Amino acid sequence: MSARILVVDDVERNVRLLEAKLSAEYFEVITATSGQEALRRIRLAQPDIILLDVMMPEMDGFEVCRRIRAAPETMHVPVIMVTALSEVEDKIAGLEAGADDFLTKPVDDRSLFARVRSLVRLKMATDELRLRLQTGRQLGVLEPGQLIRDQDPRNADILVVEYSEISGRRTAEILAGDENRVTVVRSAAECLAAVAGKSFDLILVSMDLGEDDPLRLLSQLRSNKITRPLPIVAIVDMEDKERFEKVLDLGATDFLARPIEKSELLARVRTQIRRKRFQDQLRQDYEQSIAMALKDPLTNCYNRRYLDAHLGGQIADAHDKGKALSLLMLDVDLFKSVNDTYGHAAGDAVLVELARRFTVTIRDFDMLARYGGEEFVVAMPDAGPRIAGMVAERLRRAVADTPVLVGEQEIGLTISIGVAHTTQAADRTDLLALADDALYRAKADGRNCWVDAGDHATAQMRDAVG
Ligand code: GH3
Ligand code: MG
Ligand code: MG
Repeated sequence: MSARILVVDDVERNVRLLEAKLSAEYFEVITATSGQEALRRIRLAQPDIILLDVMMPEMDGFEVCRRIRAAPETMHVPVIMVTALSEVEDKIAGLEAGADDFLTKPVDDRSLFARVRSLVRLKMATDELRLRLQTGRQLGVLEPGQLIRDQDPRNADILVVEYSEISGRRTAEILAGDENRVTVVRSAAECLAAVAGKSFDLILVSMDLGEDDPLRLLSQLRSNKITRPLPIVAIVDMEDKERFEKVLDLGATDFLARPIEKSELLARVRTQIRRKRFQDQLRQDYEQSIAMALKDPLTNCYNRRYLDAHLGGQIADAHDKGKALSLLMLDVDLFKSVNDTYGHAAGDAVLVELARRFTVTIRDFDMLARYGGEEFVVAMPDAGPRIAGMVAERLRRAVADTPVLVGEQEIGLTISIGVAHTTQAADRTDLLALADDALYRAKADGRNCWVDAGDHATAQMRDAVG
């Protein structure tokens, strides 16, 4: 796990010391000796983690941290405060300035590496999402500024796993101060049952669970699909220094030492919740941008961009497996006259209803895409001419048999369909061209019918309409 770490300290000797330790573990280290320089370095070198000294002349670590958090480009970068003091007030001030973690000077190697590794993991996950989102934005329509929102760190659903009833109650009371909804359970089994039944924003796990092994529970929570993305804060006894690292390595996102200090608990929980919500937001924006880039907004079926991207792969897959893939190209007959007679809005409503009928008529794993204005494509993996013909006929009837109701108006419609198969086509372009030719023949043959590209006889099964 390689990462670029920025070490900030006004005392040159301290900088060199940390630099040596981190470089020995193959981290890439960059340095700064003042708050101002740090902010400049952050902008230019984009570190993955920042180790920030608290006591510096001019601009102290708290102020640097606040500025990192306030700037959209840097607000997601993890910050570890390095402090000579281990006063609780300092920790609180740091957490409130937006620090993710603390180290006390002289810095102990093992806690340094454990903290750094855990935050690097977190940063990698966030970066992956940011990257995907960027791709989504390039494809789609997300506003660049949409990403940046300060997340409310209160009002969360929190699960507390604590064997001691008294401690559990006390923790819950503190957390309730931030308008959180708190559930307290007393064993690993109750914890696993609780997460299966309800969604939480954060889990606090005491490292004292009576008979149960809390470390085992931690790794179970990390491998469980539901709880994997959740922040998990471990509660560890102050004397039990060994566990500090272990819990982070096993996947806790943070830990607290007992006796629990009220404002430290609240501050750490807020930091975790804020991060979780930030990540949730990223993921949601990403999914939305993908949906917007790949789906047709009117009918909600896939758009042509998606079809073009995926059909090639589907065809290659069909060739590889020696299976057939059939493609149907559907076009609404005389659709122009629908617009002319009932107006464009009614035309839109018709397209929405037709897409719905197509969707319920095809199989789950067939893909429906809007190919153009009133043209649709259905790609049917693992379907030869016989099945494709049956589905084409079913689609034709799904339109012709029942008029579309728009407001009070019943609009009678038909579609024509061209059918083609991968057995006749080398690639996507070929397949689409064959289907298009067949569609053209169906139109020429009087519409409201389907034609298979492989058949030389023309229209089949036409309704006796006209
Ligand atoms: P044919 O049977 O030969 O296909 O006749 P047609 O009238 O359907 O064919 P043509 O391609 O001439 O016209 C298609 C019409 O579809 C023209 C266009 O205004 C309309 N159209 C395309 N996209 C939309 C849309 O999103 N909404 C609405 N309301 N109409 C659309
Ligand atoms: Mg048409
Ligand atoms: Mg057309």
